[in-house]
Amino acid sequence: MPLDSVSHNFLTGRVEDLVNWARKSSVWPATFGLACCALEMMATGAAHYDLARFGMEVFRASPRQADLMIVAGRVSQKMAPVLRQVYDQMVEPKWVISMGVCASSGGMFNNYAIVQGVDQVVPVDVYVPGCPPGPETLMHGILTLHDGKGKKDRTVPLPQSILPELQAQLERVLKLHDQDIAAGYAGVFMDGLLEKKYPAAPRELVWQWFFPAKTLTLVPVQGEYRRYHLHESHVQKALRAAVRQAKLLKRVSAHTFRHSFATHLLQANYDIRTIQELLGHSDVRTTMIYTHTIQSRTVKEAKSPLDLDTTGVRS
Ligand code: SF4
Repeated sequence: MPLDSVSHNFLTGRVEDLVNWARKSSVWPATFGLACCALEMMATGAAHYDLARFGMEVFRASPRQADLMIVAGRVSQKMAPVLRQVYDQMVEPKWVISMGVCASSGGMFNNYAIVQGVDQVVPVDVYVPGCPPGPETLMHGILTLHDGKGKKDRTVPLPQSILPELQAQLERVLKLHDQDIAAGYAGVFMDGLLEKKYPAAPRELVWQWFFPAKTLTLVPVQGEYRRYHLHESHVQKALRAAVRQAKLLKRVSAHTFRHSFATHLLQANYDIRTIQELLGHSDVRTTMIYTHTIQSRTVKEAKSPLDLDTTGVRS
């Protein structure tokens, strides 16, 4: 159809952008209040603050209908496995906001009964400071999630130094895939409706997990065995063991690697825009946070541009 025969204006765009926009505009939080912070969370949902304008007013009682967990309050050791289970049952993609000082670091409850930071249990996307954080602060956290990390991809360059290990892992995956196919397994678990679109894909090599779970999982309804990826908790356990072995005295979580990634690149004199892009920050001011940890070697004493010309020729 020629363009001039279209009688109305139209816009073009990518389906991916449309889906992300819809996702961002209808984040549904799980109903999960743990302590006093939860009252502020409830106040945020009430009429005065109106979370409905973000499409978020419906706190879901079932984690299967929620994609945001707001950890509002201190997390006791007893509650930690429950919290993790609720998180595991939430739909992908999902996010976590750690609300208040208690959820983020244990706060004033520096004792064995309270988890000293919920990022030891689930991966946290945004930390909301305060005791308790008011509704405005929580909403700021929600907007950070919308426009900051949730909006951009993060990129990590593959280190050349670990190529032999990656190659060995690939060999393991190839071998495991051959064994699984020979045993007649039903394939890997796939995201959303992908399997409907590509029914043969779960058994194809290209869709296998690079870090597969050790055992197969039984799907009782179909009576078939499938394979998940390695659970994040394995990485967390390995990290804890490494931290113990290295006798590090500071608290280290998987998130620490993100800070160390940025700080090392800054130390190597990478420009801040490149680091911003790699970290997926939409605003360079977020990336600037890392600059206080090291002394800049690129910033020189400020001079007038007129003085920069050392040839003596003025145009
Ligand atoms: S941060 Fe303050 S308000 Fe929130 S749970 Fe802890 S003590 Fe309560």
